[in-house]
Amino acid sequence: MQYKNTINPQVLPDMFFDISNAVIEELQDDLFVQKQVRVSVLRLDKIHPQVSGNKIFKLHYFLEDALASTHKTILSFGGAYSNHLAATAFACSALQLKSIGIVRGEKPASLSPTLQQCIQDGMHLKFISRHVYDGKESSDFQKSLQTEFGDHCLIPEGGYHALGAKGAALIVDLLKDKDYTHICTASGTATTLAGIMLGANPQQKIISIPVLKGITDTAHRIQYLTGRQMRPEQLQILSTYHFGGYAKKNEQLIELMNTVWLQHHLPLDFVYTAKMFFAVLDCIKNNYFKKGSEIICLHTGGLQGNKSLPLNLISF
Ligand SMILES: *Cc1c(COP(=O)(O)O)cnc(C)c1O
Repeated sequence: MQYKNTINPQVLPDMFFDISNAVIEELQDDLFVQKQVRVSVLRLDKIHPQVSGNKIFKLHYFLEDALASTHKTILSFGGAYSNHLAATAFACSALQLKSIGIVRGEKPASLSPTLQQCIQDGMHLKFISRHVYDGKESSDFQKSLQTEFGDHCLIPEGGYHALGAKGAALIVDLLKDKDYTHICTASGTATTLAGIMLGANPQQKIISIPVLKGITDTAHRIQYLTGRQMRPEQLQILSTYHFGGYAKKNEQLIELMNTVWLQHHLPLDFVYTAKMFFAVLDCIKNNYFKKGSEIICLHTGGLQGNKSLPLNLISF
């Protein structure tokens, strides 16, 4: 199949996803003036209130394939709090595709808000033990899915696939009006990061803030996702801002979220974008960025995840 390198409006219809909502906001702060840098944010979170902004881009080419298929079915994987599954369920319902979610772990007595949303969006959920889930890439397991669910388009967990990266590259088109020196993003599977690398100019620096602890395989992931070697001078990985690991947080992180909201009216989520923002601010304070740097931070969404926080912890 030939893939065009532009957003297909049939795949992301503006009735559901208004890409023009993804505005760029420049932040004003004495720190930035003092350090002579400029900091802007690409508000992918404004594209949809529940669906993370980067996820719909990663889904783009899979949705296109499913629309062109006769089975009109997408199957994917995730945990009980997976932003990816929620985005898949929503996009499929918007496009009248069937969706199947294979969920890690036995079915709990009460479903997470994320999974409840998936069901509301018409996703059929199948729960499998962690052990079986770990073997989900095996051909035996995939054959059993074929037997159970028939023909489908399979999206690996988190959209971790070359097509996911190609879709994420479409995000860079939204930055084309300006030559940013640095593009910063929070990373989980690194699929969004790989897409940014595909779309960016060779002289732009790309900064990845892994939200998981102990990430050492980013180069390998980029190679798998893009077929290209990462250039260490282009890609920088700031691996010390995970706050203890995936979805871990402390008071400092919550305080940052509240401060950024008060000062800039920018809502952040504690799993991804708050960690990225903390890293960027810390780097600015420590003179990591040269004077004159034009920094763009991707607000990749994920705000619905804050619902799992105790009431009153955050002020927005
Ligand atoms: C999933 C997600 C990411 C990470 O994207 P990857 O492509 O897996 O690296 C970043 N931010 C938010 C808000 C997300 O939901």
